[in-house]
Amino acid sequence: MPPEELQQRLDALCGREGEPLVARDAVNPSMIRHWCDAVGDRNPSYTDPAFAEKSVHGGIVAPPTMLQAWTMPGLASQGDAPRKSDLAAVLKLLDEAGYTSVVATNSRQEYRRYLEPGDLLSVTAQVERVSDEKQTALGAGRFVDEVMIYRDAPGREVARQTWRILKFKPGAPPARKPAGRRPRPGKTSDNAFFWEGVARGVLLIQRCSSCERLRHPPGPMCPHCHSLAWDTQEASGRGRVYSFVVAHHPAIPPFEYPNLIALIELEEGTRLVSNLVGIDPSAAEIGMPVQVEFTKVDDELVLPLFRPDASETR
Ligand code: ZN
Repeated sequence: MPPEELQQRLDALCGREGEPLVARDAVNPSMIRHWCDAVGDRNPSYTDPAFAEKSVHGGIVAPPTMLQAWTMPGLASQGDAPRKSDLAAVLKLLDEAGYTSVVATNSRQEYRRYLEPGDLLSVTAQVERVSDEKQTALGAGRFVDEVMIYRDAPGREVARQTWRILKFKPGAPPARKPAGRRPRPGKTSDNAFFWEGVARGVLLIQRCSSCERLRHPPGPMCPHCHSLAWDTQEASGRGRVYSFVVAHHPAIPPFEYPNLIALIELEEGTRLVSNLVGIDPSAAEIGMPVQVEFTKVDDELVLPLFRPDASETR
């Protein structure tokens, strides 16, 4: 499809307001209280009628950011939702034009007034605009703005929310070749022993001289008995994956992506953050046995990385 025809067809789908979805319940103190409990909002204007009466509001009001909660359709009413915006049609056109990838970029809410118990809201959605093609870090793409307009029972707008997504043509994946040097560890008088050990291929764990508990990361005082005296114990280097994440984006040089970052529980009991090597990130598992591997990253830096321990039978 020629670009002008695509733009024409996209423009034709913008500004068409869908059918209103009416809230199942009017704004009410119970839902406000549950919401405040859930997010930990302690503002008494939302939950304490005596306080709210003396406030500038003159009574209980709903937290503005609770906006979307009022018109959520609920699990029971799926299937009979009113016509939404033309977003699906817009996305289909963009898919066909090669903008097959999508990423949500931002959301903005604007409030016209505080909502009070008794307000019965309705919401409509429409595609507000589709930008022309922009060059982005992800590839050539178009920004799509969908706007939700919230109104009270007499039909006055009380708030609106804009969602922006980027539909883009997936380009070549970012270059994976690491550039620059890996950041240096932050060395202090507390953890110097750890890095000196690593440099000579030994994994040391700090041990309280008084209660003999092990601790990591290193620190000046035992968190259990508050003793300042300590020595070290040499770790076997064996442990298990306690937890892990696989970082994909944003790719920050010089790290390689996907970047498999693991929390290793040593068999002595302390845990440390490191990278897992010698394994496809999709094969990582919590509990998998691992063995330390002292890796010379560059002329100055050795890091204790971990590799799946093939010698252990489970
Ligand atoms: Zn201690």
